[in-house]
Amino acid sequence: MWANTSAQRHTPANSRLINGRAYPRAVLFLDRDGVIVKDVHFLTDPSSVQVLEGVKGALQQLQTQFSIVIVTNQSGIARGYLTEKKLLTIHTTLLNALGSCIVDAIYYCPHLPGAPLEAYDRNCECRKPKLGMLLRSAQEWHFDLTRSFMVGDVLRDAEAGLAAGVSSYLIGDHILQSQFPHAADLPALVPLIMAEQQLTTRRHHL
Ligand SMILES: [Zn+2]
Repeated sequence: MWANTSAQRHTPANSRLINGRAYPRAVLFLDRDGVIVKDVHFLTDPSSVQVLEGVKGALQQLQTQFSIVIVTNQSGIARGYLTEKKLLTIHTTLLNALGSCIVDAIYYCPHLPGAPLEAYDRNCECRKPKLGMLLRSAQEWHFDLTRSFMVGDVLRDAEAGLAAGVSSYLIGDHILQSQFPHAADLPALVPLIMAEQQLTTRRHHL
């Protein structure tokens, strides 16, 4: 299931980023909870993993144009709600649930300033709205951020995307006041992202 599970990064065995395979240099960063799986307010049990409707179909389309990278704040680890080991089992369940969809990498931030667990009590650079996870993945895989996207369900996701210089979108119906383009869910965003991606690619070729 996993090619690599180094610190704060889970790399699935079918990731296109490994083994010197060709992969899209444009990346789609996705928040996990509320975008890919139902947000249950601290997902601590693999049996609570529930892939949202239409997400698999959306990923099948998006993965043709983008490397797919999940970036997720997991302060539940710092709060002592779950361990990093448990997080890995949750991600194993997630990959199984996604079937043939490709996830190229999952980055997570286990930190929280003032957390009860000292090992994770850190004012880190990876917790969104900071851009650490996006930047690290771009450096590790040489992604082209000028042709890349971020989709999240809360403002700090889009702010992290903005800080990294990628086109940032929000989903859900509670964010209509925000400056960011938005849609109801990930499937509804697919045509918008594909259209913007085409424009960007055309600009690069001029
Ligand atoms: Zn962090």
